[in-house]
Amino acid sequence: MNKNDLINTKSTLCPCGSKQLYSKCCEPYHLSHAVAERPEHLMRSRYSAFVLRQFHYLITTHHADYLHGLTEQQLAQGDVQWLGLQVLSSKQESDHGEVTFKAWFIEDKHIDAIYECSSFIKQDGCWFYTHGQQMQTPLPSRNDACICSSGKKFKLCCAKLMR
Ligand SMILES: [Zn+2]
Ligand SMILES: [Zn+2]
Repeated sequence: MNKNDLINTKSTLCPCGSKQLYSKCCEPYHLSHAVAERPEHLMRSRYSAFVLRQFHYLITTHHADYLHGLTEQQLAQGDVQWLGLQVLSSKQESDHGEVTFKAWFIEDKHIDAIYECSSFIKQDGCWFYTHGQQMQTPLPSRNDACICSSGKKFKLCCAKLMR
């Protein structure tokens, strides 16, 4: 599937939830027109790459020593619908970085999140994802703000997808 089937790059907000246009946010990274200057930018662009099925980008930004044989084909087998990204914290100390986030998705009418503290290292001027520590997170309460940042209550928004 071509990225352009998934997004109109000129007028669409970036999937990473930055509220910026995709063409001004994560697209320059996906097109190799820019390199992420901070671990959080790389993390966001990797989430956008999952949404837009840019699997090559996910492999090239994953440090080779930590791939453990992961391939684009394996990534392409997943068939989840991504709902939204919440970046909870990010920090950077010289060539190491950490970003904690929740990436919400729905699969088989079941909503869940990858809740992870991701680690990144900088090599030759580029940040790479190395590994992450995953945690469990409960679903939001029905009256909480929706995970997709729509501004609606969860029960009136993405919770409806579960039916
Ligand atoms: Zn973005
Ligand atoms: Zn929602």
